[in-house]
Amino acid sequence: MAKSKKKSKSKKNKFVKVKQAKKKESSVKVSAKMRAGKNIYFFGGGKAEGKGTLKELLGGKGANLAEMVNLGIPVPAGFTISTAMCAAFNKNPNTFRKNLDKEMRSHLERLETLMGKKFGSGENPLLVSVRSGARASMPGMMDTILNLGLNDQTLLGLIKQSGDARFAFDSYRRFIQMFSDVVLGVDGDHFEHVIEELKERRSYASDTQISADEWKALVVRFKQIVREETGKDFPSNPYEQLWGAIGAVFGSWMNKRAIEYRRINTIPEEWGTAVNVQSMVFGNMGTDCATGVAFTRDPSTGAKVFYGEYLVNAQGEDVVAGIRTPQPMNISGKKISDAGNPISMEELFPAAYKQLVSIYKTLEKHYRDMQDIEFTVEKNRLWMLQTRSGKRTAQAAIKIAVDLVREKTITDKEAIQRIKPEQLDQLLHPMLDPKALRDVIATGLPASPGAATGQVVFTSDDAVNEVNRGCKTILVRLETSPEDIHGMNISEGILTARGGMTSHAAVVARGMGKCCVVGCGELRIDKAGDCFSVGGKVVRKGDWLTLDGTSGEVILGQVPTVKPELNDDFGVFMKWVDKYRRLRVRTNADTPFDARVARSFGAEGIGLCRTEHMFFAEDRILAVREMILASSLEERQKALAKLMPMQKGDFKSIFKEMKGLPVTIRLLDPPLHEFLPHTEEDLVTLSVSLGVTIEHLRAKNESLREFNPMLGHRGCRLGVTFPEIYEMQVRAIMEAACELVKEEGYKIVPEIMIPLVGMASELALMRKHAEAVCQEVIKTSGVRLKYLIGTMIELPRAALTADKIAAHADFFSFGTNDLTQTTLGLSRDDSQKFLSAYLDKKLIPVDPFVSLDQEGVGALIRMGCQKGRSVKTDLKVGICGEHGGDSASVVFCHVSQLDYVSCSPYRVPIAKLSAAQAALQ
Ligand code: ADP
Ligand code: MG
Ligand code: MG
Repeated sequence: MAKSKKKSKSKKNKFVKVKQAKKKESSVKVSAKMRAGKNIYFFGGGKAEGKGTLKELLGGKGANLAEMVNLGIPVPAGFTISTAMCAAFNKNPNTFRKNLDKEMRSHLERLETLMGKKFGSGENPLLVSVRSGARASMPGMMDTILNLGLNDQTLLGLIKQSGDARFAFDSYRRFIQMFSDVVLGVDGDHFEHVIEELKERRSYASDTQISADEWKALVVRFKQIVREETGKDFPSNPYEQLWGAIGAVFGSWMNKRAIEYRRINTIPEEWGTAVNVQSMVFGNMGTDCATGVAFTRDPSTGAKVFYGEYLVNAQGEDVVAGIRTPQPMNISGKKISDAGNPISMEELFPAAYKQLVSIYKTLEKHYRDMQDIEFTVEKNRLWMLQTRSGKRTAQAAIKIAVDLVREKTITDKEAIQRIKPEQLDQLLHPMLDPKALRDVIATGLPASPGAATGQVVFTSDDAVNEVNRGCKTILVRLETSPEDIHGMNISEGILTARGGMTSHAAVVARGMGKCCVVGCGELRIDKAGDCFSVGGKVVRKGDWLTLDGTSGEVILGQVPTVKPELNDDFGVFMKWVDKYRRLRVRTNADTPFDARVARSFGAEGIGLCRTEHMFFAEDRILAVREMILASSLEERQKALAKLMPMQKGDFKSIFKEMKGLPVTIRLLDPPLHEFLPHTEEDLVTLSVSLGVTIEHLRAKNESLREFNPMLGHRGCRLGVTFPEIYEMQVRAIMEAACELVKEEGYKIVPEIMIPLVGMASELALMRKHAEAVCQEVIKTSGVRLKYLIGTMIELPRAALTADKIAAHADFFSFGTNDLTQTTLGLSRDDSQKFLSAYLDKKLIPVDPFVSLDQEGVGALIRMGCQKGRSVKTDLKVGICGEHGGDSASVVFCHVSQLDYVSCSPYRVPIAKLSAAQAALQ
């Protein structure tokens, strides 16, 4: 993988170009198609004009419907209006309709011919669904309308066709509800309210008990509601209904919740959504009908089991909405309490179930990934309505990827590309201590694993308010809707009373990697919405609650958490990652404990060991202060002599923990006054324990005070003015290493790092001092030891003059935190006040302290690296700082030919995966 720098640059440019070319190609394709007048793609009758690879044009849903048709899978016929029309619609709805009308009519006729039905017919009506589908799946963002084409005449046709008035009226009322909500903007609550009223009056437990005549009366009432709310009659012309629905789908691309979802998931607005118009199949035509959603593997654990939920005699989103409790797909999915009760699809619809199993296997093979599928059974006949790659937890993602490689469905390289580096974060985060006591007050469905503790809120707006005040929240809802995205995103965990494993809350939380418990039916959420009760206990807003997303337990109070065990699949996966990765990954660790954690996550060395953290330890801060307050060199050396064995002990245990892996130790960096107490009380205590007057302490504090400590007396400037401090540290490092070599036979090459160098002359002097000590220690101990002396590059001047500096350095480590501050002239501690405005106004794409400013700071890194290697070809170069664990920054480091990145222990696997993906690009 060793490439010359020139080559790497051209490779990067090529990469960028390829991306641009791709973009161009697709827009050319779209506009060529538009010129050719093809904006609608038909599917049905065993073949489709579209296919799975045309997601950009047909959206995910449309492309996959076409692909299923081409695979010979039963899918109701229909057509897809391309994503290009979304922008056209939003620009000018009237022109859009005029331009598309002819093409629409001809496709509708084609559908009528194929189905042998007629749109708007009072004898034999064709009914359709109008479904949105963007390129990337956006759960619940866009609304689907079912049974479109119904009016008082076509209703008669539907009754004739089906011989089932109850079914026909149920379909009609559903259509009025959905259409009024989505297209006419009449709040769905109006209708739900009327239904609830009726059920209460008749003491019905479920919608299924409502009779044909009762639905008929409700339809009249619903139309009246529409008239009251909109001042107009419900539109009866099917063709007008169709245009209205299409417009609403395209328009919904620009609604608030869609925009919010796109923002969180960085989906560009230009993509647009497609519209699918599809002939209806009915899952609500009786007890030989059903509808359901399923995953080809368990989306929580990744286990290879067919997993899902369905409802008998139901339509559309009844399953997801949690109005009725969904039933399990198969016998193995049943609860023990349902053992004698045939409720699963496997038991009630054996033929359709068998066919579904064979179809899901075909789909998984074909798409080479776990699928999330939607289906309907009409009179025991199975119809597929959707397939897509299923959302999953990080744990499931790894297990599925590893299993698919084992099953020889995908290669290990593909497995690596399939995991989002950030997802790994979920795996490494704490879970509830299994040994801790838990006051379990309820148990729901474990929708998304992990643990979460926070204070209860009942609305998403409250969640945002509380989090902004510094609290952690648990969002408790009856069920969530797309309006709750912002509250879910900001909360630690989500708890819902309704809904199954495929409910909105479950799907969205899994996507976010958030702990989530759903369908906790025992919860009684108070109407006023500031408390809930369960099992005689009342939990109010602000009370602490803990969720276990792995068991589904809801626990009162806070519960301690522990580190999770990483399983075998994770180990196998990381082996593949290591196989393809060129960039090394080290960790930032100041203590033996951090070092051990990092090594367990696969760190290949320490890239940054900060020594000042050791100075703060309780048993040595006094000696440190003595050293700072010393009024003569002699006194200072006396204090340093006390510190030296402690530092040596620290280094010894870190070297020991790292077992010969490289360890870079940075000499003291922060300004000295940081170690002195500042409150009166602490000053008094110190004056007593050191036997100095309080005036002396105050005077010292005053003399050390700086206007701008970040640019003050720190880094190697301390080494210049107090050489004896750095000498002590170098001695401690070298003696520790020599002793370990003698005692344990480790191969240690200590890397001594000088901070905040701006000029070659500074490093030359620091190196001279350090070398003298190193030589002396080696001589005295009689151990032959290699050591490296290098520097942090964290000032622009250092990067600009890196060739001069490299003459005195064995390695460079870009300190990207300080380099970002000094390059942008931006204080990390002060900038949070205004950076959010910069982000909002899109002046910057990301917080430069989170993800490297590649254009600015990155340019200095590239230049520093090239200049340094121009005088020392084998100069070892890495970065340390927060950016080492950010995947975009890691990719940058790979492309820029750095040797390693160093990041916090928990981010080591993320950095490794990012590095492997960059290498496989
Ligand atoms: P979403 O994007 O929210 O999943 P869909 O467009 O998939 O919305 O529609 C939701 C549900 O509506 C489907 O899962 C299916 O049950 C039902 N549905 C959609 N189109 C049809 C159809 N032509 N016939 C029967 N049911 C349909
Ligand atoms: Mg939906
Ligand atoms: Mg769907």
